[in-house]
Amino acid sequence: MKKVYLETFGCQMNVSDSERVATTLAKKGFEMTLREDQADVVLINTCSVREKAEQKLYTQVGRIRHSGRPKPVVGVLGCVAQLEGETLFKKIEGIDLVVGTKAVGRISDVIQRVLDGEEGIVDLGEREKDYDWNVSDAQRHSPYVAFVPIIEGCNKFCTYCIVPFSRGREVSLPASEIIRSVLEMRRSGVKEIHLIGQNVNSYRPESDSGLEGFEGATPFSRLLRAVSATGIERIKFNTSFPRDFKADIVDAINEHENLCNWVHLPVQSGSDRVLGLMKRGHTSESYKKKIDYLRSSPRDISITTDIIVGFPGETGEDFKRTVELVEYAGYDAAYIFKYSPRPGTPAYSMDDDVSPEEKTDRFLELETAQRKSQNERLKRYIGKDLEVLVEKQAVRMEMQVSGHSTCHKVVNFNGPAELIGSIEKVRITEVKSNSLFGELCNDSKAAMQLC
Ligand code: SF4
Repeated sequence: MKKVYLETFGCQMNVSDSERVATTLAKKGFEMTLREDQADVVLINTCSVREKAEQKLYTQVGRIRHSGRPKPVVGVLGCVAQLEGETLFKKIEGIDLVVGTKAVGRISDVIQRVLDGEEGIVDLGEREKDYDWNVSDAQRHSPYVAFVPIIEGCNKFCTYCIVPFSRGREVSLPASEIIRSVLEMRRSGVKEIHLIGQNVNSYRPESDSGLEGFEGATPFSRLLRAVSATGIERIKFNTSFPRDFKADIVDAINEHENLCNWVHLPVQSGSDRVLGLMKRGHTSESYKKKIDYLRSSPRDISITTDIIVGFPGETGEDFKRTVELVEYAGYDAAYIFKYSPRPGTPAYSMDDDVSPEEKTDRFLELETAQRKSQNERLKRYIGKDLEVLVEKQAVRMEMQVSGHSTCHKVVNFNGPAELIGSIEKVRITEVKSNSLFGELCNDSKAAMQLC
């Protein structure tokens, strides 16, 4: 039995693709291993959104080639594979196969062809009509948390982004299929699902099947209500596109306890001029209205975001608007990136006129502003009881366990490993830089059993 080691870079969509690759390979008689040094086949599922992620591929293949052991079959999957195709063979010595984002269903055949002696195989073809979106329990990154793709690709063409080119146009999965797989996951013990896609709220399936009878102005809010009706304990969704983020999504969260109180809404910039250059389709005012509506929810919805600093043409004044917006929005977390041009995107041909030093200065200034606002906002959790899905033992702390709240905060607390997989009520006692710390409430399920 050939052993396969699979390494994944990038977003949840890539993690989810890798889970299906592992499911397919296991079904076809390959053995998945966590030991790269013992693998006959090493697959790298790549990300091209940022330069750093792409660089990791080069480093990784070089390391395998120089490891001194017989070279395994090396395959490149994902976004870099899709964009670079066969040029990868010239760019990086030691690669045997290249499989694009939609061809992963054929991975076992491609590996077999290499094992049979064929060289330089590239498959950048389309997804099979009967592509199996299911992931076996054994190959999921967690027994309790599952990613459920609901839409692939992107039609938005933000000028800095490579995704519409690497993942193609938006295709929504049928609602009836999504609901069936959530029901199956619920039966197999999954507690929390994440509906995922580049822009989940642009969800627009070809037919209404599965959504009949569920209210809401947009198909996405109807899907949220339909998935809520499955009775699965927690539902999160990621990522939301601001222009398509409608009030009915917040209404659905307000009305259904199992729709979690967390929304990731990437703003990217607070300057309307820069947002125009990015072709984001929203303005700072229209974005703020969405924040206001989220804040009016009785459920204390945690809001997180992504921001790019130093986009071509961004002036000091533009940057100030971003700092102001961060202060206005009061994010629970913000992922801040320095702009780096990605070949193949419209912004690549723009004059990258913000110097590296200026980008770093703006990054640090924005990080400080966000940190200050975040520290203030997170204090509201102190003394509050949060429902935490316990997922693992805390890193380096044997007596502590770690999980996520419904508002998607990492929460650590003292407790035995037996709690893993359960949802516990935890009273928050401390705010750390990227997590919360608390203690098991006396009336939590676990505390009652321990008494
Ligand atoms: S919405 Fe914009 S940033 Fe997001 S994936 Fe599509 S093009 Fe990229």
